[in-house]
Amino acid sequence: LDYLERIDRHRDDNIYITVFHEQAVEKARELDKKLSEGGKPGKLFGMPMAIKDNISIKGAGLTCASRILENYESVYDATAVQRLQSEDAVFLGKTNMDEFAMGSSNENSAFGAVPNPFDKTRVPGGSSGGSAAAVAAGLALTALGSDTGGSVRQPAGFCDIVGLKPTYGRISRYGLVAFASSFDQIGVLARNCDDASLVLGIMAGKDEHDATSSHRDVPDYAEDMAAVKVEGLKIGVPKEYFHESLNREVGEIVKAKLHELRDKGAELVDITLPESDYAIAAYYILVTAEASSNLARFDGARYGYRSSRAEDVLAMYVNSRTEGFGKEVKRRIMLGTYVLSAGYYDTYYKKAQQVRRVFQDRYREALEKVDVIAGPTSPFPPFSIGEKMDDPLEMYLADVFTVPASIVGMPAVSVPVGMDSRNLPVGMHLICDFFEEGKLMGIARHLQ
Ligand code: GLN
Repeated sequence: LDYLERIDRHRDDNIYITVFHEQAVEKARELDKKLSEGGKPGKLFGMPMAIKDNISIKGAGLTCASRILENYESVYDATAVQRLQSEDAVFLGKTNMDEFAMGSSNENSAFGAVPNPFDKTRVPGGSSGGSAAAVAAGLALTALGSDTGGSVRQPAGFCDIVGLKPTYGRISRYGLVAFASSFDQIGVLARNCDDASLVLGIMAGKDEHDATSSHRDVPDYAEDMAAVKVEGLKIGVPKEYFHESLNREVGEIVKAKLHELRDKGAELVDITLPESDYAIAAYYILVTAEASSNLARFDGARYGYRSSRAEDVLAMYVNSRTEGFGKEVKRRIMLGTYVLSAGYYDTYYKKAQQVRRVFQDRYREALEKVDVIAGPTSPFPPFSIGEKMDDPLEMYLADVFTVPASIVGMPAVSVPVGMDSRNLPVGMHLICDFFEEGKLMGIARHLQ
């Protein structure tokens, strides 16, 4: 109830798109009753959670922060949501985001920007900006986000919290609105590594409804985390991540933290990932291609918004999409359609797929020699609202350190490691090998 009050007080911050006032109180009552009747509390008993508005909760809105889905209501629960519910989590509401999870600042939302809780003139990061701001401002204890190229990790870094993207396939995508299906993963935003891995452990595991979800058993993450010792840990530090374009203070804070680990007995290993410069280009070709196909379903007929200028079928498609989608979404649909078109497929899409393969090989090879790859989460601290809106390429650079793990499919986390001289948060980004979430979070915990 304290949370609901705080949410009301922060209404102007635009963090939530929908607040579950009655439902949350009702759920809390139910849980009280269950306990008083001698019922066994679930593993998340009473945990107040926020859910990004591209993840389905039956009966609730599912806007994806888009006009095209403004009045759409989910007809089923996402598998992740249903698993959290069955462990007694309490959902407080649905959070603001970049439209269809496309963006790095939360400014591409049809419902307006979200201020960074540390400096209201700056962005909270994106696309899970609402979820990150909610946790940072104490408007939820943990939150779900989605991460296609950094949308959980980058806002976590900007909001001084933990943001975890699991291995591709670790959590079912059933009920997560698709942006780029071969990249999308549900992720967790939390104040600390223990909460993040607790929530992960509940959601992870095979789901009949998602053929890409992994059959692998879900380990006891708490146990795996406890087994991680700093002594003898090999931390790979790619020289390409500390490029001269990196913000100086961000670089210094991340390095200082790495030196702390070295002083505690870890070994810092210089590594090289020479293809790093191609990450952004390959990522934006592949995800826009997948997005152009995934978003074809929003045609004015099947879901959500239909233009009133729908004289015939073609006019209905064109006008509904023209009026319903925002600028960035349209830009990506056009880019994606272009890179998939017959004359350009080999030059762009096929090439990008080959680059994806090279990244997979390189990161695998690197992680044969070291336990973890470390660097900054973002090349710069949270920027001002409006600063990068006229320059999409500049905005895309916000993801330069987070997209490789998404291209490869490996688990990665952003952990808070300090504040710069303007009191803006700085995050460190860690990548481990496939399905090593326990180890990853164990290492991350030594940084907090
Ligand atoms: N900022 C990246 C993009 O716009 C990442 C988005 C995401 O992870 N959903 O594509």
